[in-house]
Amino acid sequence: MQNLRSAQSGRPSEYFGELTFHQPAMRQYLPEETFINLQDAIHRGERIDRRVADQVAAGMKVWAISRGATHYTHWFHPLTGATAEKHDAFINPVEPGRAIESFGGKELIQQEPDASSFPSGGIRNTFEARGYTAWDPTSPAFLMDNTLCIPTIFVSYNGEALDTKTPLLRTLHFLDEVSTAICRLFDNNTDKVVATLGWEQEYFLVDTALYHARPDLVLTGRTLFGHSSAKDQQLADHYFGVIPERVTRFMSHLEFEAHRLGIPVKTRHNEVAPNQFECAPVFEEVNLSVDHNQLMMHLMEKIAPHHGLTVLLHEKPFAGVNGSGKHNNWSLMTNTGENLLSPGKTPGSNLRFLTFLVNILKALDDHAGLLRASIASAGNDLRLGAHEAPPAIISAFIGSQLSETLDKIEASSENTLVKHTKTKEKLLFNLPKIPEILQDNTDRNRTSPFAFTGNKFEFRAVGSSLNCAMPMTALNLMLADRLKKFKAEVDTLTNRGNSTEDAVLQIVKKYITASKKIRFEGNSYGEAWTEEAASRGLPNINNTPEAVSVFSRPEVISLFADNHILTERELRARQEIHYEQYTLRLQIEARVVGDLATNHIIPVAIQYQNRLIENVKGLKEVLDAKSYSRLSNHQIQSIKDISNHIMEIKTHVDEMIQERKTANRIDDPADKAFAYRDKVLPHFEIIRKRVDKLELLIDDELWPLPKYREMLFS
Ligand code: ADP
Ligand code: MG
Repeated sequence: MQNLRSAQSGRPSEYFGELTFHQPAMRQYLPEETFINLQDAIHRGERIDRRVADQVAAGMKVWAISRGATHYTHWFHPLTGATAEKHDAFINPVEPGRAIESFGGKELIQQEPDASSFPSGGIRNTFEARGYTAWDPTSPAFLMDNTLCIPTIFVSYNGEALDTKTPLLRTLHFLDEVSTAICRLFDNNTDKVVATLGWEQEYFLVDTALYHARPDLVLTGRTLFGHSSAKDQQLADHYFGVIPERVTRFMSHLEFEAHRLGIPVKTRHNEVAPNQFECAPVFEEVNLSVDHNQLMMHLMEKIAPHHGLTVLLHEKPFAGVNGSGKHNNWSLMTNTGENLLSPGKTPGSNLRFLTFLVNILKALDDHAGLLRASIASAGNDLRLGAHEAPPAIISAFIGSQLSETLDKIEASSENTLVKHTKTKEKLLFNLPKIPEILQDNTDRNRTSPFAFTGNKFEFRAVGSSLNCAMPMTALNLMLADRLKKFKAEVDTLTNRGNSTEDAVLQIVKKYITASKKIRFEGNSYGEAWTEEAASRGLPNINNTPEAVSVFSRPEVISLFADNHILTERELRARQEIHYEQYTLRLQIEARVVGDLATNHIIPVAIQYQNRLIENVKGLKEVLDAKSYSRLSNHQIQSIKDISNHIMEIKTHVDEMIQERKTANRIDDPADKAFAYRDKVLPHFEIIRKRVDKLELLIDDELWPLPKYREMLFS
């Protein structure tokens, strides 16, 4: 498909990462000193000096050109949630008739794409329309279709973040700093902590020919109409079933290209809904894993058509069957390879584990609204709380064993936890033991949006099409901020003469009590939970405009600003873009609903109705009056039903268009988004219900759109 190999051949271990300028290629193409300098700078998160950049660029150029590259691009993540690139050729004319390939440190480090069309939420005025992209050396450059792609951040003329990567990197740095300081309360071996992410990507595949016959799928990524199929997922016969042959060919092809790009994809299986699937890699450092997920989604869309398939990454492409999510498995790992969310073998490492666990719970309790906001999208609104996906209420599941442990700590007096010895030292005593393997599959709660799964948290409310950078930024920041405060509280106590263990336990205990309401072990899909969550005062935010409004709460603004992740202006810009994206998506959907109803559905309904009318007239001619009145009733009723449906569809399409026009005149992005939510969106369901009824009435031969049973079962 792209350079080097024309077909899938060899073993994964032979071609893994061959399209990336990662450590093996760097060792081969960079002078040793440059390699060491680069790795050092990456490890310490320092700026790379120009001399080193020139040498890296020289090596990267030779590596890329020897693999057939003709162009290079900075690859970045603007606030649309997608990725962006603008290719430049290596070619550089040096005299008439002669050119050389050139690429230097300057081109590697920084570019100025004329990016004025990207959303900036009002950050850039026209006089400063340019944005800059700057090299992110922590994510390796890679080759895609003969183009050298260099992962970069994207900032404005004034250095304000215009992308999702910049704040993510800032939170990772912050989290490293504070987590390392916390680890050092327990031992001195830790000098770096990285956050880790393993995503599980769900998606649908549909036959490409059918896809193209559905304007709603093509333009909005989801079906706006469609009666459910007689059989869909009731029999649960798709989940983990035998993967269809065409899909296996697609998956193998996808994995082959992913492995060449160094994406460690490992797992693949059928999901619950028909034609729904999942793939998951081995976890990696968060920034790299986020880039890999963006790349993976791109590869999926690119490779599927080679197999006559189109991939749907939308959160809810089909009503009535499961939607798609992207579980984000998240943890923390030290430079010594220890998982901070793995319960330890000794009381000391157990205390460290409990410290991180309890800080996460407290952070979640403080900022549940922000976490919900970080996964807000029009598509995800259709999935969350639909009894097949986590509710819109954020809570955490930790399992019975851990719950008991936390309850015991909470109930204990300080003296039962810390034993005073003859020497002045205090020893941890009676700290509830936590076995290493915490949970087996019987103690898993699949209904929780945020579940502890033995050595990591699984954030399940993330939507399938979303860029993981946003939820990861929120989680990292919430935790880092909490750890910072935790450390300060511990320091205050130790300065007063308490031992570290004593101090840690006291604060841990306090946090357990303070964050109790965020813990929920029961069924999150149940009605009872909605009521209980309300009585606990937990937010239940089931729509994007409301979720996005959280970004302008004072505590959220100061969380981002005080920790130097995003200034208030940068955060408000993001909020504005969120509102705009929501409005635009609904605007497009509303247009497609109107167009399909008016130009595809109603004409066919009338055509079929005319047939019935002809039929009734014919019956009158051939039948005696008594038989006629008995036999024509059925058709006449159908004729009336069709008229009723048409009338309702027309009325609501007209009203929807009027509401859209009114909403479009609103200037304020928030008010506009709310108007779309309250005035435009409700018409979709009403129109859909009528259209789906018509689908059941009208001759199958005439129906203009592929049906659910066709799209989900071919
Ligand atoms: P499930 O039963 O939910 O499918 P798995 O154990 O198969 O869970 O893991 C799912 C994902 O969790 C994989 O992407 C895996 O790499 C990731 N994962 C495992 N350990 C960690 C960790 N320490 N940090 C982040 N992700 C992890
Ligand atoms: Mg999982």
